[in-house]
Amino acid sequence: MPLTLRVDGERWRQHLQAVARDYPRVVPVVKGNGYGLGTSRLARRSGWLGADTVAVGTYDEVPDMLSRFTGDVLVMEPWRPFLQAPDDRRVIHTLGRVEDVLELSRQRSRARVVLEGVTSMTRHGLTVQELPAATRALGTLRLGGLALHLPMSGDRSGEADHWCAVLEGSRLGTTTVYVSHLAEDELTAVAGRHPRLRVRPRVGTALWLGDRSALHPCATVLDVHGVRRGQRVGYRQRRLPGNGWLLVVAGGTSHGIGLESPSAGTTLRSRAIPLARGGLDAAGFALSPFSVGGRQRWFAEPPHMQVSLLFLPRHVDPPRVGDEIPVDVRYTTTRFDTVAIT
Ligand SMILES: *Cc1c(COP(=O)(O)O)cnc(C)c1O
Repeated sequence: MPLTLRVDGERWRQHLQAVARDYPRVVPVVKGNGYGLGTSRLARRSGWLGADTVAVGTYDEVPDMLSRFTGDVLVMEPWRPFLQAPDDRRVIHTLGRVEDVLELSRQRSRARVVLEGVTSMTRHGLTVQELPAATRALGTLRLGGLALHLPMSGDRSGEADHWCAVLEGSRLGTTTVYVSHLAEDELTAVAGRHPRLRVRPRVGTALWLGDRSALHPCATVLDVHGVRRGQRVGYRQRRLPGNGWLLVVAGGTSHGIGLESPSAGTTLRSRAIPLARGGLDAAGFALSPFSVGGRQRWFAEPPHMQVSLLFLPRHVDPPRVGDEIPVDVRYTTTRFDTVAIT
């Protein structure tokens, strides 16, 4: 009963290659659900793109990556003494606290590391003031760069510049800076202002999901029932608001399909339209992310584990069992049954 991600392979691969051309030192980010495409596929694609390093989110993701990718694996979650960190020469650890630098250098001589500088994200990392102590604590650890995780808004280039200047004035002895979340023009500008540094962007979304026109998430229609106004359906036996059809479609909570249409394309305006139309949300119905006839349709009740129930008014031509209908998903939280690349 598939929720399927159909990928226009030609288009997708062309986009990947364009990104790799524009960012020659790109470090593909391969983590979580593999941006809906699956981490194994993205690991193989990273090799195909010629990447020498991939970045993963957590230590749990490392073993699988080591078996599917032949280059280095940068772990973005900072090393902590309580995490199970594989002892492998291809793994690069991120350190963000002086005490962790001391502890890792005690436990693993010559392990490969990057130091993370804290940014206005305020997630992880050392402050500028802590950097000298961290530098002294490195011992035999092999430092491969400075890592920066920038927010999606604000003066990101300014922050990146600031840290680049700190690196240039430091005794760290590395010229590599791994940067997350700088736009292409910002990246070029920052790299241009610091010609002695090797700026390496860590990119996930803009790489794997950067050309949405290559990606077509769709749900298979599993059943179509003619229904009458007032008829009770579903687990909750709610009364339907009109005559029409009840569609049973693939995709439920187990796939990460929620009540709200979730994608970034959902603007306030598009949310307001059903309200202005006097839509069914006034009656407690929720707009679904599934579309029929070019319009998002209403859930007849909250999604189930593997399927969703949609109400389709009488004047709409219902799809047939086996047809696929478009569904608007948030890729990073969706588990597709099938990813079909053509
Ligand atoms: C997930 C993550 C990225 C990649 O983010 P995208 O928005 O998918 O490009 C980069 N850096 C860090 C630290 C991350 O956690």
